[in-house]
Amino acid sequence: MAGELTLRVITPDRIVVDEPVESVQVPALDGSMGILPRHAPMVAALQVGVLRYKAKGGEKVLFVSEGFAEVRGNVLRVVCEAGETAGEIDEARARDAEKRARERLAKKGNGGGAAEFDAARAEAALHRAMMRLRVLEYGSRERVRT
Ligand code: ATP
Repeated sequence: MAGELTLRVITPDRIVVDEPVESVQVPALDGSMGILPRHAPMVAALQVGVLRYKAKGGEKVLFVSEGFAEVRGNVLRVVCEAGETAGEIDEARARDAEKRARERLAKKGNGGGAAEFDAARAEAALHRAMMRLRVLEYGSRERVRT
């Protein structure tokens, strides 16, 4: 349909989504950003979080990790390190990742340098795991199709 927005979510190893959509909410660095058809061209950095969109099948949610979004010619391209639909998320793996990260954070020493770096990595891993679990929760609570 003319004037329709296409959402294309691309990771280094695959295309996660490529479909016409009515609206999208992306987790931009400075907060959630809404995008509708005929949006002006733009580029925005994304943080790890939940991308929501409305398409023919209803509302859908995706996990996306760091990347950027670009709108040009009625195509919203999201290029990110990792992306999964709610149906693709392995819950046990996300729970294991959460547990591992919490254990690493609990053990963290007071020293700076390498310890701080490890803590930052553990915080980031914890955030990714929690966002994946949130996508699973939204996917089931709202009966979002995946
Ligand atoms: P883990 O410690 O379990 O690998 P991670 O947060 O370090 O988690 P990422 O670096 O974000 O993983 O992603 C690496 C690859 O693994 C990506 O292709 C991503 O889609 C996939 N992946 C990571 N966690 C999950 C999960 N819980 N379910 C499905 N795919 C996952």
